[in-house]
Amino acid sequence: MTSIQDYIRDIPNFPKPGIIFKDITPLLADAAAIQQCANDLYDIVEDKNIDKVVGIEARGFFFGTLLAEKLNAGFVPVRKPNKLPYKTVSEGYALEYGTDALEIHVDAITKGERVLIHDDVLATGGTANAVCNLIERLGGEIVQCNFLIELEFLKGKDKISKYPVASLLKY
Ligand code: AMP
Repeated sequence: MTSIQDYIRDIPNFPKPGIIFKDITPLLADAAAIQQCANDLYDIVEDKNIDKVVGIEARGFFFGTLLAEKLNAGFVPVRKPNKLPYKTVSEGYALEYGTDALEIHVDAITKGERVLIHDDVLATGGTANAVCNLIERLGGEIVQCNFLIELEFLKGKDKISKYPVASLLKY
């Protein structure tokens, strides 16, 4: 088959001027591509002794759950504020303009559990860094931050340099 890269569609100026949005829906729509991508993401997890895969809302849920299944691990969603129904821990982070927050259920990670964090895109790293803080606060051990796409020119890796980072495609 052709490469995974061929299934990522660039959408210029979405959601705002100057951003090139990496659209993964063509990849999700193709049976062979989705399988290949899940296998490749699994292959870049160096230490496979994982208890929980944490996926970041919303596009981190797609391959996050597939990875959890492959790793024989549980899946935990991190969500935008007021979406999770049970008691949550919340972590704020800075955006270009203003702030946002992410939440996780208080009982989602047990102290000492080995965690893989997954999202579709690593851009500035603010999101991933907030999720790392949530996992640390619950006592989880971050084994890897795992991304489908890394936008290297935004240097997001620097914000999560304490942890191993792996991504399938780099731009
Ligand atoms: P950041 O916090 O800047 O690393 O942004 C990461 C989050 O924003 C991820 O959840 C991505 O899904 C989303 N994101 C940021 N930039 C892009 C992009 N160019 N294309 C698609 N998603 C993006």
